[in-house]
Order: sequence, then structure tokens, then C-alpha cells
Amino acid sequence: MNQDASGNKTKFVRVWKQLQVDEVKKQLLYIDDLYGTCGNCKKLGLNYLKDKKCPDCGNVFKYLATKVNQPSEIGKILSRIQKEGLDLVLIEREDFEKSSAQDAARDLFKF
Ligand SMILES: [Zn+2]
Repeated sequence: MNQDASGNKTKFVRVWKQLQVDEVKKQLLYIDDLYGTCGNCKKLGLNYLKDKKCPDCGNVFKYLATKVNQPSEIGKILSRIQKEGLDLVLIEREDFEKSSAQDAARDLFKF
């Protein structure tokens, strides 16, 4: 648990939000641990604490998605983002991939 500047206690609570899948894809960094892959050009080995944008395609990262699903590991990522004061939003990778897949399927069946 953390305290913000006004002394209010803050905790992580998952929020459901409608996102533009195409936009998110362009601003997404897939991470395993500390290192990740650019969602736009698939460049490997990016460090989300240091790489604010992709050195190859110039994408500025706004979202993180991870395969990690243990709450303790997710908690570590969230704490790290907060501690470093990073402007990154962690999204649920499964949700994102499902919505991307739906879009792909829709495109596929568009005649
Ligand atoms: Zn890139």
C-alpha cells in the first residue's frame, strides 16, 4: 500500500476500460520480465524502465502487457512502474489478444 501526496492510501484495483485496439497495439510493449518486445515492429530486448520509446520504429510506449499472471509478479511490475514514476498502463494481455483476434476474424470475414 502506498500514500499519495495528499496522504490518501492507494491500492491497485483493476479497471475495465474501452480501448482502441489498433491504437494500443502501436503503443504496446510486451514484457516477460524486465525485458520486452515492441508491439509495433517486434523489436526484442527492450527495457520498460529505460526505453520510453522503441529505438527502431520510434513508437512511444504507453501500455505494457505481460504473460506473467501470478499476482505477486504483477504486483512487482506495478510497484516498479510506480516507483520509477513511469507513464505506463499495464493491460491484461489475454483481454487484448482476444479483442485483437476478434478484429482479425472480423476482417477475415469481410467480403
Ligand atoms: Zn518498434
